[in-house]
Amino acid sequence: MEIVVTYISVDRVTKRRKFKTLAGAQAFAQRWVGETPELGSNYAVSFDGVGTIYVYGATLADLFPKLERWPTNDEIEARLRGDTQPCQAFALCDRPATTTMQHPILGAVPACERCKAKLENL
Ligand SMILES: [Zn+2]
Repeated sequence: MEIVVTYISVDRVTKRRKFKTLAGAQAFAQRWVGETPELGSNYAVSFDGVGTIYVYGATLADLFPKLERWPTNDEIEARLRGDTQPCQAFALCDRPATTTMQHPILGAVPACERCKAKLENL
């Protein structure tokens, strides 16, 4: 499988390279936008916003393994609102709370949509 990585800078410099291995594609992508870029829906942007990486034949998660996981829409919206309160529905959940749910003892507790849906379906 061939991996095609395209780098585009804000001043429209474009570099496109093809790779036979993921390691090569990772090195190229991380060379341009760093190991932990910001992720958009189908692209990765360097922290300074200068460079953007697009990839075909692999995922952005493949290219930037130091990014633990893709932020969900809930998390992005919570960040935009400045709401960083963590979900307290499950001890192991570290997603930001985006709603509340009724706990039989604690009353309304902050929760993320995923945990709320999970608990409502129990
Ligand atoms: Zn949760």
